[in-house]
Amino acid sequence: MVQKIKVLFLDRDGTINQDTGSYIYTREQLILIDRADEAIALAKRAGYRIVIISNQAGIARGIATVEQVEDVNTYLNELLSVENAGFDRCYYCPYHPDYPHPDYDRFIDHRKPATGMVEQAIDDYFSEGLVVDRCASFFVGDKMLDVECGMRAGLRSVLVRTGHNEEELCIKRNLIPEFVADDLYKAVTEYILALV
Ligand SMILES: [Mg+2]
Repeated sequence: MVQKIKVLFLDRDGTINQDTGSYIYTREQLILIDRADEAIALAKRAGYRIVIISNQAGIARGIATVEQVEDVNTYLNELLSVENAGFDRCYYCPYHPDYPHPDYDRFIDHRKPATGMVEQAIDDYFSEGLVVDRCASFFVGDKMLDVECGMRAGLRSVLVRTGHNEEELCIKRNLIPEFVADDLYKAVTEYILALV
């Protein structure tokens, strides 16, 4: 018998940690958004798996190394774990269309709004005997491409007004998320967990 799970897919920069306006590749640059850790802890307690889905094209652009990005992700998990909010999986996409690179061009379908990272996560869970219930899973992010990625993957999209806050752009392009929240904490407490 397969076990069904629900997942909270989360963008990283501008959703969990503050978007600095540039690529984040050192621990010092990573500052959690207020109550983001609390929000994740609440979602975990409610049974959601936490999966980070992040475009990190600073790698293809030569601004950050794979090692730096992975170290920042490790540090993020350390910070979140203090509040029992550690993530379960983390995927990042090094590819950028303007900076072709022999090592990273194969990740073209992973760059949001494409759904490669989400599909990879779902496949990885499946290989462990866990089936992701897409209709019960959410994608939360601060950009239109997050909303679009969630929609394309058959997930429930929520936009947060932290980070880039692309609410107006979403309306203009008719990519309408299911809910718009001031931040991740409100997305979780006022919508995702309030639905039950
Ligand atoms: Mg973001």
